Amino acid sequence: MIEIDGSAGEGGGQILRTSLALSLCTGQPISVHRIRAGRPKPGLMRQHLACVRAAAQISDAQVLGDALQSRELHFTPGRVRPGHYEFAVGSAGSCLLVLQTVWPALMLADGPSTLQLSGGTHNPMAPPFQFLARAYAPLMQRLGAAADLQLRRAGFHPAGGGEVVVNVASAAQSLRPFDLLSRGDLQDTQAECLAPGLPRHVAQRELDVLCEAMGWNMDPRQVLPLRQNEGPGNALIATLTHAQVTEVFMQLGERGVSAETVAQRLVKDLQDYLRLPGAVGPHLADQWMLPLALAVWKTGVPACYTATELTLHATTNAETIEKFLPVTLTTERTEDGWRVTIQP
Ligand code: AMP
Repeated sequence: MIEIDGSAGEGGGQILRTSLALSLCTGQPISVHRIRAGRPKPGLMRQHLACVRAAAQISDAQVLGDALQSRELHFTPGRVRPGHYEFAVGSAGSCLLVLQTVWPALMLADGPSTLQLSGGTHNPMAPPFQFLARAYAPLMQRLGAAADLQLRRAGFHPAGGGEVVVNVASAAQSLRPFDLLSRGDLQDTQAECLAPGLPRHVAQRELDVLCEAMGWNMDPRQVLPLRQNEGPGNALIATLTHAQVTEVFMQLGERGVSAETVAQRLVKDLQDYLRLPGAVGPHLADQWMLPLALAVWKTGVPACYTATELTLHATTNAETIEKFLPVTLTTERTEDGWRVTIQP
């Protein structure tokens, strides 16, 4: 039984999700205490409960404490079964965080899986669909863990209603860790705005400010057509395609925050990333750690990557991973940012 303090480090949902993912991958039972103690509404919220239930469903796990607001969870996984699953968050909470909870175990399973997920697809404090499809999935593919992601319908807070379909191939025999030290030359930049249910000028103003500040050409097709019933919601998304890595940054519109401010926040994210040469940005830096560590564990081959920034999410994730896997994670500050090394 591995004991996890859910309030350690970053103290959010990620400790729980990483622990569930690694419990499934290693077969080790977990006992998580003080779940999300660092958050304003501590304990399991609907979205975290959906992660617990999804993890339990794919492994016929025995679970205690799987209730809303629960701060304690005991989870004993059975054997992970690949197959067809439907996971509904049941609120506008991120269904992509549910995907990230089960993806590692399903990639290690001995057959393919198809997942139908519903909930939010563009949420605060969660990876948006385009980030997983364009930034994360290609790295997974290079790792030997192919997956195909389709956005059927966007879902924003508070209405939710988003739908994503994912095919996860079995990578049990194909994992090959690789070093990702440089992002390579910039090949393409793309700006898009989702603004269902909002006046068209909102998207136009966001794209104008973004493209002007970045010196990018505007294309009228950048305002993505969405059904009005997918909103209301607003996500401004920028994709930077470099030769070795694609990064996706998103800012969500909020009531009371001007379109110009939303765009300026995204410009800041992009400038922070472009200022330093590290291969991945802050979000990929914390999310890439888990699949790479699993690949290092399974193959015995070390791997490293560079990042522009290592957040508390990243260092907390490293500590959680080391509790489960016989790997050593080292993070090193360099002149250009950070270097993360994972050794068997
Ligand atoms: P937590 O706050 O502990 O539930 O974890 C949130 C997770 O979502 C972390 O892995 C973050 O890196 C990730 N995340 C938050 N915002 C974004 C974003 N805009 N793009 C990609 N990933 C994100």
